[in-house]
Amino acid sequence: MQTNLGDPPMALANLDAIIEAAEAEAGHGCGGSDVLYEARVQSAYAAILEKAQATERAATETALRKRGYDPDFVPYEAGEGECSLTGIDENCCPCGRHE
Ligand SMILES: [Zn+2]
Repeated sequence: MQTNLGDPPMALANLDAIIEAAEAEAGHGCGGSDVLYEARVQSAYAAILEKAQATERAATETALRKRGYDPDFVPYEAGEGECSLTGIDENCCPCGRHE
């Protein structure tokens, strides 16, 4: 019997768990930065949608949108004195790129 060694196809039944795991994963390493979290979680949502089978794509997108998925997500643009990576004030940002 032929076995598929790739990722098993995602089942919609597991979608909530998959999304929650992706959100938890995106939260790691963000410190207090909503900007960084948002960029990471949007990227994770897009990856989940990409992996969805064609027949489950619409339902997957609906579920993701309920969680805040934004297909037109634009990364945060930092204002003056804000870190472009985290959105945190450069004087407080822990990313290590500021003098
Ligand atoms: Zn920074």
